[in-house]
Amino acid sequence: MKRIAILGSTGSIGTQTLEIVRNNGGELEVEALAASSNVALMEEQIREFHPRTVVMWSEEAAKELRIRVADCKVQVLQGMDGLLEIAVMPLVQVLVTAIVGMIGIRPTIAAIKAGKDIALANKETLVCAGHIIMPLARECGVSILPVDSEHSAIFQSLNGEPRERISRILLTASGGPFRGKTRDQLEQIKPEDALKHPNWNMGRKITIDSSTLVNKGLEVMEAKWLFDVEPSRIQVVVHPQSIIHSMVEFIDGAVIAQLGVPDMKLPIQYALTYPDRTEMRGNRVDFFDLGSVTFEKPDMETFQGLKLAYRALELGGSMPTVYNAANERAVALFLERRIGYLRIPELIQSCMEHHTMVEEPDVEQILAAEQSVYDYIGELV
Ligand code: NDP
Repeated sequence: MKRIAILGSTGSIGTQTLEIVRNNGGELEVEALAASSNVALMEEQIREFHPRTVVMWSEEAAKELRIRVADCKVQVLQGMDGLLEIAVMPLVQVLVTAIVGMIGIRPTIAAIKAGKDIALANKETLVCAGHIIMPLARECGVSILPVDSEHSAIFQSLNGEPRERISRILLTASGGPFRGKTRDQLEQIKPEDALKHPNWNMGRKITIDSSTLVNKGLEVMEAKWLFDVEPSRIQVVVHPQSIIHSMVEFIDGAVIAQLGVPDMKLPIQYALTYPDRTEMRGNRVDFFDLGSVTFEKPDMETFQGLKLAYRALELGGSMPTVYNAANERAVALFLERRIGYLRIPELIQSCMEHHTMVEEPDVEQILAAEQSVYDYIGELV
């Protein structure tokens, strides 16, 4: 039996993780949960999964939850102190980081130092702090198990082979709902159009990021850190059917891929049961129904977000943080209908040009870079 804690249990990845727990009868035990403000769902999760400790980010949410679950044996904590406390709880073996944003960095570092394996969904952790996280994980002897479907596919395709044998990583992308569109057509895009992903059902921010290809850019950054491969050897391949979740080309030319229906539950379950595989009910790939799979080069001129990601990665240091923070704020503004769709990459570029880079930022400098981007966007918009 594995004991887990989930940061972001009320979100898209968090609720699917709990579905895996539910379907793995007794093999996984929930020790702790954390969310931001969704008290109603957290109450349901407490009553079903009986964690010892939960955390709500906001004070009011924590207060309300304490009243609602006064009849349950659960400790309700609050804020960053709470997140740090559950990250190091002695019984927890695996921390699932399914929180959104850079808030995930400090608890992840604390958990690694306490010897916990990390089932990593939170992209910001590696994008902004990969240079801190990966060496620390090696030093502490903990595994960083990717939850993102592409990185899980690469991890499964590698199957323990050393990095010297990797020739290229072929990171697949569906191309999003606007594949093939021109910049003029993108100008008209509204939040409701961008929130419809053709293949994957995900949270709001990541759905917008998939449509702009910024999500793929963030994945390229994550892949660099997870698999220790330079960006020039990470090739994005547009594959609209989303059946091949990514591939690895080895030095002898062999290409190994992982395939499956687009369903996040498979990579989440694999991260939690690794190195085992357990049964999972659900749809299977029907190759006869599928008929064919196709591949294209990504259009980095129309979807500048991907091009800027390679640029940020090449510059390194605090630049990926700036890329990520600028995108986060720009997406929020787009969802609030305060900026147009094409302003998202434009704002990222402006912030990158405005930023004075820090070579090896520590966590404080990462958070400061994030704040300076927010301030700058505040001036621009
Ligand atoms: P959601 O927006 O669906 O969920 C976010 C979760 O984080 C919620 O439980 C939210 O709580 C919680 N949360 C937000 N801020 C805080 C905070 N300050 N303290 C505690 N909890 C907080 O996001 P997703 O599940 O889509 O994504 C989570 C992460 O996983 C992201 O980094 C994303 O990029 C990555 N990812 C997601 C994939 C997907 O398919 N969705 C695929 C691969 C990676 P509340 O509900 O109370 O607001």
